Amino acid sequence: MASASDSAVFLIVHREKNGHQFRVFSYEDEEAKYIMVATNICRQLLKHGQSRQAFKEIAEVYKEHHPNGWFKKWTLDEIVNKFINLILDTFPWIFSDHGFRNPNISGCHWRRKYDGFHSRKQAILLNGSRVSDMCAAAKNAKGTNPNSKEHKYYRLFVFLIATTLFHELGHIFITFLSLGDADTPPEHVPELAGIHARTEPESGNILEGKVFGGSVVHGRDPKSDDTQPGVPHLVDKDGVGEISQQMVDGFLRCDFQFPFQKSDHAISDPLEVIGGFWDEFLPSDPLNHPSMRELAEEFPENPFDFTQLDDLEPSVRVLPKVQVGPGSALARGAFKPNDFRIEVVKTK
Ligand SMILES: [Zn+2]
Repeated sequence: MASASDSAVFLIVHREKNGHQFRVFSYEDEEAKYIMVATNICRQLLKHGQSRQAFKEIAEVYKEHHPNGWFKKWTLDEIVNKFINLILDTFPWIFSDHGFRNPNISGCHWRRKYDGFHSRKQAILLNGSRVSDMCAAAKNAKGTNPNSKEHKYYRLFVFLIATTLFHELGHIFITFLSLGDADTPPEHVPELAGIHARTEPESGNILEGKVFGGSVVHGRDPKSDDTQPGVPHLVDKDGVGEISQQMVDGFLRCDFQFPFQKSDHAISDPLEVIGGFWDEFLPSDPLNHPSMRELAEEFPENPFDFTQLDDLEPSVRVLPKVQVGPGSALARGAFKPNDFRIEVVKTK
């Protein structure tokens, strides 16, 4: 029997470089399709015991700073269950945002005030040009052997986007706890070696540290260009090492092994990243844009009634639910690019 968590609605929006033009994707758009493959993995990861434990630890620290928060009478389990169920029910809106300049910045989340617990009023911005690179990699991988460079590139991109989404959920959790009004606790400065050391709290890295064992950073392969996915590395307090393709593939199959194991060497020392020296410009919060705000505000009871999306994209009248989970077409898509169709759930 299908349960509620076997299907989900995704709202994925293309945003132009100028920051003012939006287009809601249909599920068949390539850009949306591969983002959903990555989101499906992120959703499974959210259900993992290690994630639950990590969110509990983050909530515990946050609670010490804000003993009179809305969750005052809630146990850590109740808080975390609420959050996880909320995200599984309505994944935050995802923007493939072409306003990012630096390819090294794969995503961001703008903290904004919560008006009730509606994750649709929170957005995750993915770097649009990296998403385009993922689609190009999927196209190149088509018909090739899984051992081909093209196929591995595609899988590394899915890994990059899935871990980015998970990182951003670390920030969204603080937004959730604070109703969008507070900063990350000062204890949450990640302990990272060498040039990766930070002085500011970073809840995304803290979440990664508690689940992955460190922060995932994609290093630049000098043999390839700026459209490469990069070579995934794990950075922890002791140093930097490569994450094996085997580890990546297990992750894509939702066969999660934590912490990630890292090799004793990095592709470069210090680790060079793609676009490392470019500026760190971030696109603005798209939900502050009038047309998007209207969309988020208009459906307080039924966020899935997207009939009014007509104004934005004529082909998208209603966004139906699609099959998710380890047995879904989305799960196969992590290994079979261009060879799967989105399974829309029939409703009565
Ligand atoms: Zn972050």
